[in-house]
Amino acid sequence: MLAKNTSTYTNMPYWLADTSLASKIHTNARFEIPTKADVVIVGGGFTGVSAAITLARAGLQVVLLEGGRLGEGASCRNGGLLGPSFSKLGVDGLERQYGRDSVHSSIKESLTAFNWLVGFIKEEQIDCDLSLCGRFRGASHPSHYAGLIEQAEALAKIVDFPAIEVSRQNQFEEVGSNAYHGGVVYPTDGTLQPAKLHRGLCQIAKQAGVLMLEHTMVRGVTKQGNHHHVQYDGGEINADQVIIATNGYTGDEFGKFHRRIIPIRSAMIATEALPESVIRSVSPKLRAHGGTERLVAYYRPSPDGKRILFGGRAFGRGDQPQLYSKYLQDFMIRVFPQLEETKIDYAWSGYVAYTFDHVPHIGKMDNMHYAMGYCGSGVGRANYFGRKVAQQVLNLAEGKTSFDAFPFNTRPFYTGKPWFLPAIMKWHDFADRRGW
Ligand SMILES: Cc1cc2nc3c(=O)[nH]c(=O)nc-3n(C[C@H](O)[C@H](O)[C@H](O)COP(=O)(O)OP(=O)(O)OC[C@H]3O[C@@H](n4cnc5c(N)ncnc54)[C@H](O)[C@@H]3O)c2cc1C
Repeated sequence: MLAKNTSTYTNMPYWLADTSLASKIHTNARFEIPTKADVVIVGGGFTGVSAAITLARAGLQVVLLEGGRLGEGASCRNGGLLGPSFSKLGVDGLERQYGRDSVHSSIKESLTAFNWLVGFIKEEQIDCDLSLCGRFRGASHPSHYAGLIEQAEALAKIVDFPAIEVSRQNQFEEVGSNAYHGGVVYPTDGTLQPAKLHRGLCQIAKQAGVLMLEHTMVRGVTKQGNHHHVQYDGGEINADQVIIATNGYTGDEFGKFHRRIIPIRSAMIATEALPESVIRSVSPKLRAHGGTERLVAYYRPSPDGKRILFGGRAFGRGDQPQLYSKYLQDFMIRVFPQLEETKIDYAWSGYVAYTFDHVPHIGKMDNMHYAMGYCGSGVGRANYFGRKVAQQVLNLAEGKTSFDAFPFNTRPFYTGKPWFLPAIMKWHDFADRRGW
């Protein structure tokens, strides 16, 4: 069944339709920006704002420069699915590349990162609809089921991370679809409203004394002696330290980083408001969901339990909602034929940042600190790595992370433009159709 695609959707993140978020975070005006700061942070998403909070609370003068609106990158565009993101790590390949011990430490730290963010949200009382609702990951092909169970068992040997096996026979308690062949529930995973989380973080950063400037593209950073000169549109500021927190939006003004990041456009749709019976027919326990497809697809109910949000790949150059909304709607109807008549109210996309080894990277390069490359799973990780990179700037022992062990590499001839992606996507699509 294919979507009739008669929907007239709004091309903006559903999260920003929340009218309580409509008023702008008060950011500083240009004249308030000093000519010198202890630390300049480039990028106002989760990574940048989280780093800013830690640094300002340690007493440093912090200026954060954002090229668009605060949170306008991936941080207010994501699905709000929150977990330790183990499956993104590609454990077997990494073990071969980097050795068992460092990979196991990074798995343990992924759980620490998740627990830290949940604790931070609670401690700081950030109102962001955090719900530890659990996640169902369905086997999209019969041959994937055994692998899912094996993966959960292998993880259980490394970390204390519960997983519940769900046979095909019992899966209807978890998901109202025939499209899966059993699966696994990760009962401690969660969901949140990312734009509310981002706003809460910006408020904390402001209270801590961070100066935040929007619509201020940084064009380059040069080092002279102990100082960095940060050139932005309309001015220059000197800083002792600089943090690059630009993730999937890293441009060639930061050439070395640009050549290490593979930006991939990722898209989402949100349905119209639906009766509770329909929502429960999709997600009986109002959990987060995903499958084992190579072309990642995931979905969840909205925090008010009235809509379903679907996420997955995007197509073409730039933001082309007419293409990806149709693709995601077709996917939705294939998995949930009961949504055939459902309209789409919102469609949007943004950039995630992949890396060549599928792990996020943190450290110092070109005299600048950085944290980036969350491979599409950055709600928990960007916040955690933002804090870690700030601790590294502060030279604190807590800044050490097991991810320090992974070198941030590029590939010969890669210039930051992923010309190979269409071919890789086609291959994944081909493999998905065959259940490989
Ligand atoms: C559609 C979509 C769905 C997703 N779903 C999930 C999910 O469900 N769960 C999950 O864990 N993760 C998800 N992610 C990934 C997650 O959102 C990101 O990993 C995370 O938000 C990255 O945060 P960040 O602060 O590092 O980068 P961003 O939020 O992208 O911020 C980078 C900022 O840098 C700014 N910038 C770039 N260059 C400059 C410059 N030269 N000068 C000034 N500013 C600059 C950009 O304008 C941007 O605001 C999703 C992402 C997308 C796009």
